[in-house]
Amino acid sequence: MQVKLLTVLIGAAFASAAHAVVTDAMIQSEATAKGEVLTWGINTQGQRYSPLKQVNTATVGKLVPAWAFSFGGEKQRGQESQPLIHDGRMFVTASYSRLFALDAATGRKLWKYEHRLPEGIMPCCDVVNRGAALYDNLVIFATLDAQLVALDQKTGDLVWKEKIDDYAAGYSATAAPIVANGLVLTGVSGGEFGVVGRVEARNAKTGHLVWTRPTVEGHMGYAYDADGNRKDNGVSGTPNKSWPGDLWKTGGAATWLGGTYDPKTGLAYFGTGNPAPWNSHLRKGDNLFSCSTVAIDVKTGQIKWHYQNTPNDGWDFDGVNEFVTFEMDGRRVGGKADRNGFFYVNDAVTGQLLNAFPFVRKVTWASSIDLKTGKPNFVAENRPGDPTGAGDGKKGSTIFAAPSFLGGKNQMPMAYSPDTRLFYVPANEWGMDIWNEPVTYKKGAAYLGAGFTIKPTNDDHIGALRAVDPKSGKIVWEVKNNAPLWGGVLTTGGNLVFWGTPEGHLKAADAKTGKVLWQFQTGSGVVAPPVTWLHGGEQYVSVVSGWGGAVPLWGGEVAKKVNFLEQGGMVWVFKLPKAISSAKGSGAKVAQAN
Ligand code: CA
Repeated sequence: MQVKLLTVLIGAAFASAAHAVVTDAMIQSEATAKGEVLTWGINTQGQRYSPLKQVNTATVGKLVPAWAFSFGGEKQRGQESQPLIHDGRMFVTASYSRLFALDAATGRKLWKYEHRLPEGIMPCCDVVNRGAALYDNLVIFATLDAQLVALDQKTGDLVWKEKIDDYAAGYSATAAPIVANGLVLTGVSGGEFGVVGRVEARNAKTGHLVWTRPTVEGHMGYAYDADGNRKDNGVSGTPNKSWPGDLWKTGGAATWLGGTYDPKTGLAYFGTGNPAPWNSHLRKGDNLFSCSTVAIDVKTGQIKWHYQNTPNDGWDFDGVNEFVTFEMDGRRVGGKADRNGFFYVNDAVTGQLLNAFPFVRKVTWASSIDLKTGKPNFVAENRPGDPTGAGDGKKGSTIFAAPSFLGGKNQMPMAYSPDTRLFYVPANEWGMDIWNEPVTYKKGAAYLGAGFTIKPTNDDHIGALRAVDPKSGKIVWEVKNNAPLWGGVLTTGGNLVFWGTPEGHLKAADAKTGKVLWQFQTGSGVVAPPVTWLHGGEQYVSVVSGWGGAVPLWGGEVAKKVNFLEQGGMVWVFKLPKAISSAKGSGAKVAQAN
């Protein structure tokens, strides 16, 4: 017994050391198969699919809490973070740029990092953070004052810290970085302040810049050598081709939700936000590369292709939504549920549009997307009016638009199951009254030139989790929700879909039918995506709970409708009772990481 125990201990120590350093191969392929969670999106493609199946349609009803952890303090604001799991540790970010390392089996706190935030940060949509990245011995995350921080996974000690940009000019950062080929890729937030969107690649071990790629046409990209010397790396697009005058200089197109990466194409896919300002009459033209998917060659920092979902956007239809790559008809393609209400399928190598269909019931700004030209068929009268036209010069005509600017889908990430070949999209049905006003750029001030009021379009629901067939464009099933959905989705080899609701529930449904099989009340609204992992032969499921984000701040009539919801800040973790998880035929076929 003694000898056996010793062997087990040595084996465990060896396995732990062997797995301590996170590599590209682990992030790109090995992690999900082994039941770890090493990146935002579960895999870098953003599929949010785990092959684990101990928790499945037959067993999920028995899921019970294993542990819970409070972020504490007085900072109970929106919690949009996706936890990461590696070597028995959970790394989870929280509101106000905090990061916690916890024992993934027990919830014991190992360390925490609280970023010192300056006065005068300008996050548009709550003090959220969406998660971290892991590489080598580091855990890396972005902060509200637009910095990137790398900490030692074991100790929480600061290893490197780099400034992304000037928070006083409206820059901030809330997205989870992703790692591709040893580079940590980040975007910027601040599209409501006239920032210039871009994607940056840094050496993940040192934080040194490798390249930058602006997402507003006309701006120069740069490449950097190991000593930090920079050289021109080509202008994005052609200056003034799609922008009038000087507006491109403060053109927005913020890459605020981060990106995805497909090792099969070598491309990173970043969505871009609204062109600035919102008043579209000030900037006649397509305003590239706003409201687009931009595919960037990770090796060179060059834009390989772009596809613009909303040319000359006039509704704040940020196209930041994640581009999730998958196989369809033997072809590498990507799916995107855009804020503008249409679901797009593009070739992942060339960007060619292959399919486009609405995934919400009410869309007013365009009647359809022309698959031949790739352009929307605009409904001209549903664009907010020009204040300098027939109006008094102070306010253009008000129109009703659907979706609202909070979108058919916003920051909450969808999931794709290679088993069912369906996307699971957290969708919302709402509209807005919107009008344009004159505006001029002033550093650090809101740069909109528009006013708005968001309204529900149905009495009984705003949210709906929808299973969407990317090939047929059909909604296969839906589960309606009273409040707007604002958390993400997880799907598993156990034929399950997990998602959270602002009413506080984490829910699990049959991935094929949408039948809800389990739910748990977490005590505050869920606006974060769930994850699952395997440890010690047991499958765990986790979600962060804590109501907040953009809806309470910007939601107009909808915000009033949900103002009874309470704030919070907890990590919840669930598993099956031991007797069930260790039973024969429980489906735990995937080998444990250690
Ligand atoms: Ca925006």
